[in-house]
Amino acid sequence: MRLLSCGLLALLLISTSQLCAAGGDWNGKRAAVSLTYDDSLNVHLDNAIPVLDAHKFTATFYLTVGYPPFGDRLAEWRAVAANGHELGNHSLYHPCDASQPGREWVNPERDLSKWSVNRVVDNLKVANIALEAVDGKKARTYAYPCGDMTAGGESFVEAIKPLFSAARGVKNSIMQPAQVQLFDIDSYMINGSSIEQLTALVDQAIAQGGLVVFLFHGVGGEHPLNVDNANHTALVEYLDQKRDQLWVAPMVDIAQYLKDEGLTDK
Ligand SMILES: [Zn+2]
Repeated sequence: MRLLSCGLLALLLISTSQLCAAGGDWNGKRAAVSLTYDDSLNVHLDNAIPVLDAHKFTATFYLTVGYPPFGDRLAEWRAVAANGHELGNHSLYHPCDASQPGREWVNPERDLSKWSVNRVVDNLKVANIALEAVDGKKARTYAYPCGDMTAGGESFVEAIKPLFSAARGVKNSIMQPAQVQLFDIDSYMINGSSIEQLTALVDQAIAQGGLVVFLFHGVGGEHPLNVDNANHTALVEYLDQKRDQLWVAPMVDIAQYLKDEGLTDK
C-alpha cells in the first residue's frame, strides 16, 4: 500500500524523496522515541518510572553497577525489568578519559586514557553478568560513559560489539533508519530544558519520520545535569497524546527492530 502510494506520488511528480523516503515506518508508527536515563539514580525509581508506568511506556535505564542506587535497590530494579524496561549497561564505575578537557574530576583509578581495551571489555562483561543476575536477560545495550569510545588512545567499539545489541553515543540528531549507527546511536542530552524544548524534539521526529533518543540524568534532582520533574512528566503526557504516531521503546527493542528489518547495517 505504501509502495503504491509512493508510486502514484512519483507519477504526479511530487517530491518522493521528501514524502516517501523520509522514514515514517517505525514498527508501524510514523516516528520512534527512546527515553534513556543514565547513572543509576534514585530519582529514576522514585520520579521517572512511576510516570512511565502510569502511561504504559517502557524505557532504558543505563545502570552504573557500582553506584549505590543500583546495589541498594536490586529488588526494585528487578521489578522495573519485569515490567518491560531495559536495564542497560553503563559500566561498573563509570570510567572516563581524563586526558580530555574539563575532566579534572575523573578519579585516576577510572581514567580510560590509562586503561587497555581488554580492561574495558573485562569490566563490561562483569557488569553484564550483574545485570543478567537481576533481569535474567542476555540482550541489552550500552551507553558510553562520558561518550568516550577509547581506552589508552585505542577505540574499543569493535571489541564490545559481541557484548551488546547496540550502544548509545552523545552526538545529536534525529535519525532515519538507514542513518542509525548501531554502536554510536545519537541522542539529545537534556539539561534544564523547558517543556517546549522537549516537545519540539518529539515534533521534529514526527515531522521527519525519524528516531529521537532522549538522554536524561537527574529527573527532579540528584544530578548536576537535570530536568525538572514536572517537565519530565509533561513530556511523558505529550508522548501519550501523540502515541498513535509514535513507537516509544527501549533502545534494545529499537536496535533489534532495525536489525530484523534489515534497515541498518552500520
Ligand atoms: Zn553517565
